[in-house]
Amino acid sequence: MIAEVIVDIAHSDVDKIFDYECGEEIEAGMRVTVPFGRSAATGFVMRLKEKSDFPADKLKRIYRAEEDYPALTAESLILAQKIVARYRVPMALVLRLFLPAEMRTGKVSERYRSFAKIAEGAAPVFSRAAKKQEAAFAYLSEHGETDAAILRERFGGAVNALAEKGYIAIEKRRVLRDPYRGVEGEKISRALTPAQRLAVKTIEETDKTVTLLHGVTGSGKTEIYLTLIAEQLRKGKSAIFLVPEISLTPQMLSQLRARFGESAAILHSGLSAGERFDEWCRLREGTAKIAIGARSAIFAPVENVGAIIIDEEHDGSYSSESAPRYNTADIAKLRAAYNGCKLILGSATPSVETYRLAKEGEYQLITLPDRINRRPMPDVVIADMRREVRRGNASAFSSQLRERLEKCLSEGNQAIVFLNRRGYSQTVVCRTCGYVAKCEHCDVALTYHSEEDCLKCHYCGTRYHMLSACPECGGTHINYVGTGTQRVVGELKKLYPKARILRMDNDTTSGKEGHFRILKEFGEHRADILVGTQMVAKGHDFPSVTLVGILDADMSLHFADYRSGERTFQLITQVAGRSGRAEARGEVVLQTYDPDNYILRFAANYDYNGFYEYEIGMRAALAFPPFAKIVRVMATGTDERETLDALREVYGKLQEIYGKYPEKFLFFNKMHAPIKRIQNKFRYQVLMRLTDGTPLKEIYDACADVKRKNAMVYIEENPSNLS
Ligand code: ADP
Ligand code: ZN
Repeated sequence: MIAEVIVDIAHSDVDKIFDYECGEEIEAGMRVTVPFGRSAATGFVMRLKEKSDFPADKLKRIYRAEEDYPALTAESLILAQKIVARYRVPMALVLRLFLPAEMRTGKVSERYRSFAKIAEGAAPVFSRAAKKQEAAFAYLSEHGETDAAILRERFGGAVNALAEKGYIAIEKRRVLRDPYRGVEGEKISRALTPAQRLAVKTIEETDKTVTLLHGVTGSGKTEIYLTLIAEQLRKGKSAIFLVPEISLTPQMLSQLRARFGESAAILHSGLSAGERFDEWCRLREGTAKIAIGARSAIFAPVENVGAIIIDEEHDGSYSSESAPRYNTADIAKLRAAYNGCKLILGSATPSVETYRLAKEGEYQLITLPDRINRRPMPDVVIADMRREVRRGNASAFSSQLRERLEKCLSEGNQAIVFLNRRGYSQTVVCRTCGYVAKCEHCDVALTYHSEEDCLKCHYCGTRYHMLSACPECGGTHINYVGTGTQRVVGELKKLYPKARILRMDNDTTSGKEGHFRILKEFGEHRADILVGTQMVAKGHDFPSVTLVGILDADMSLHFADYRSGERTFQLITQVAGRSGRAEARGEVVLQTYDPDNYILRFAANYDYNGFYEYEIGMRAALAFPPFAKIVRVMATGTDERETLDALREVYGKLQEIYGKYPEKFLFFNKMHAPIKRIQNKFRYQVLMRLTDGTPLKEIYDACADVKRKNAMVYIEENPSNLS
């Protein structure tokens, strides 16, 4: 037989099929070691065939298979080809997505244990001196196959003696680590509410592949997902359940564990390399049928998929930030098409793009407007921070928030204080009137560049002078440094010396373990106030939380990004959703320098539709996605000349495409990336705004052809970050 092999080297020079001779034992999808150049390389068997076009004496033979099973499923191989065609990246790079990193590096150790059982046809006669042996034999006859270590603990050397005599057989077998041993949860089985039941029924019966489940926070979406998954399991099918990493809270883990036991493989970054590898193996061999995890779990090796669920579909973590820069929902759609199964996107705050498709009938839309048991949404109070400043309150807390914090603590409830730190430091805000410096052409906030002491627009590159006074009110309290969590905790400690306060941000949470520990502690009510940044916003269900304070609600509103309004709405809704989830009524205090802002008003009223209509109108007027596509081609490299040279070549090719469809280009410009150098790599870019995706394929082709030793070129579509 002949095997078509892709060598596992992610370089465009070797990104092609090589033919090798092979024996019967080789199957498509296997990892193999092959002679390559003057040494050896690992590779992937893409296909088997009878004959090669190469002369037989030129063909080399595969050395060996790395595993005795194909690591890549038939579906993975097909999917990989589609991804390569779409994103124009080397095949090896794409195939790696389907495998645990530990498998390729060979660094993970497989774990073995020995098991003892009665040898076939054994009819031992024991001498009187061999009491222990007799007892051990009797034990095995009664209990059947037993872990040899346990047996040795009880019967010592007698075990080996029995084995030597051939009365028992000891066999070494691979065992898979179980990272969730000891994770227990009570199995809660609840009857679905009528709304949940209807949602499940609609999903099962719709002839549309994709369903958007738009349900307010606390409307019971999770229960719907779990029901759908259980139903697929019952049919003998498998399922993929994606959640943003942070949502894998202790509660969620134990709930999944209690519900699905070992049928669920939960892949998250808190696992050790060995554990992750073993969870992957359980999915590959089919003992586990539900793959649960963050973005990368969309590549899980499950077969016969019956449902794919993407929870919090709007979450930014579903876009990959390294090559291939895929969008998780796009891959999910490919898998749904291959398996003929349903894809469910769930969110309380769907992305504008997704919601538009649902409204236009492309997706099935299901709306859950009420919380479970009609629990009310928390009341939102908007606190005008300009007034606080005028009144001489220089602290991080408004009087409204302080008042409610006192009440919350005195009643023995818990509070979350949320800081919106991202994007703050670079945006310029007047502390007196709330004015934010924006681009005249793009209506997005400008970003401060300290090296040049100027403001820049990340969408069109226009430069502005740094402000010394506010153009609106003349005030000189111009601010571009945020309040840190540390300062907030300090202030809280002074105000409430008895309160137990936890802080959660990137500094306090070394690794995901840290997250987990803090959330667990807070969840067990061993603290009264949780102070944190973005990571406290999502998915948690803490019943004793009755107050959420959002310290600077508008800070992400002015992030230099066309999606900042959407992000802010999502963030506020998510954070607010942490309050009042159980019996006690919840409250939210939203502090802002811009209290009349539409986005904040919509968020405070839980008015998603109002927000959507407003936002989609803005996007249409300004020709932002989904009415246009922003495409950035980036050249980066440590050698500035080579990087620039690569970009020039790309630019030349892109100009030809531009010439071919000028009407498709709203914007086309070559420039320095806003941040010129990151980690010693120079960055040059071509920024385009297209009316639609027509020229995309040619753009990808053009970029794939540009090759440099010390620089790489990549493409981003509607990037979430234009710095
Ligand atoms: P969402 O994912 O939409 O934010 P959850 O699934 O977390 O909502 O549900 C909110 C709360 O309602 C949770 O505490 C959950 O345990 C509870 N819940 C969900 N479904 C039911 C049900 N059918 N009966 C009773 N309680 C439920
Ligand atoms: Zn601009």
